[in-house]
Amino acid sequence: PMSLSDPVKPHRICVCVRKRPLNKKELAKKEIDVVTIPGNGALLLHEPKQKVDLTKYLENQTFHFDYSFDEDATNDLVYRFTAKPLVKTVFEGGMATCFAYGQTGSGKTHTMGGDFSGKSQNSSKGIYALAAQDVFTLLMQKRYADMDLCPYVTFFEIYNGKVFDLLNKKAKLRVLEDEKQQVNVVGLQEVPVSSVDDVIKMIERGSACRTSGQTFANASSSRSHAVLQVILRRRNFLHGKFSLVDLAGNERGTDVSNNDRHTIVETAEINRSLLALKECIRSLGQNSEHIPFRMSKLTQVLRDSFIGENSRTCMIAMISPGMSSCEYTLNTLRYANRNV
Ligand code: ADP
Ligand code: MG
Repeated sequence: PMSLSDPVKPHRICVCVRKRPLNKKELAKKEIDVVTIPGNGALLLHEPKQKVDLTKYLENQTFHFDYSFDEDATNDLVYRFTAKPLVKTVFEGGMATCFAYGQTGSGKTHTMGGDFSGKSQNSSKGIYALAAQDVFTLLMQKRYADMDLCPYVTFFEIYNGKVFDLLNKKAKLRVLEDEKQQVNVVGLQEVPVSSVDDVIKMIERGSACRTSGQTFANASSSRSHAVLQVILRRRNFLHGKFSLVDLAGNERGTDVSNNDRHTIVETAEINRSLLALKECIRSLGQNSEHIPFRMSKLTQVLRDSFIGENSRTCMIAMISPGMSSCEYTLNTLRYANRNV
């Protein structure tokens, strides 16, 4: 328990934005880049040079974050300032969580998963693989090597408020809470891993499972939250946990008339879980006694991440730079803005 003389631990929460470059299609369409990152964590959403009637969104609004990454930032750089410091937390027996937030196509999966298709080296590695690398580096270090820590991986998806195991043929799992409010995902495969390659194999297996057996593979994977966890156990007891979360796209079903009932239900569930997440992170930041983790399945299964003195969270909000995305971009910036 914390006594009055204890200083409040700094940096429990880190909120960053990452702007992706305009892609070929956007460049071909002569999309205007409306996002500028001048430095010192600031981000400017500005008026287009051309007059377009979207100016109501674009009156040179400035936002401030712990870090703002521009289109030249590599995954490696983003990792160094976001998830990397959290690896230590896990070794020190804490719960660390890193979220990728943003509209579909803004770079969440690129940042978290990276590109596995090319099997290329560092440049395309995402936060999953970079974090795994650091976990195994620390496991070899003398002070941790003596601790008898064993690493495990879980990988699951939360879709429409239901949990599916990506390392076990998408088995649907139940979530139970015991009398001590401990949340348990019943039957979730916890795979022991002994090298970075082992972890990468699990990521590949889970990612393939994520998009298989679905007619609209990419569409539906953007409608679910994917959670990769690296767990450290010491003599079978939980020591620390790192949850890396590739969130569902935050775009709202604004044109309800155009959507079928299924899509409307799906969208409502996504909005609910992202709102719950924001509330839980806010409570964590305020050291609040009450964390509303039961507001959604996402926050319920991540309950561990929001409690305890040794919890650390990092949110990376991804944004597309184009003029045509600016409404979504503004939504994302407002969500990530901690002062609201
Ligand atoms: P999301 O997961 O948010 O839907 P993706 O990560 O799939 O978005 O990104 C959409 C496309 O943009 C992909 O082809 C991806 O490779 C590319 N992309 C995203 N972020 C970047 C970046 N920072 N640099 C280069 N390409 C990027
Ligand atoms: Mg994605």
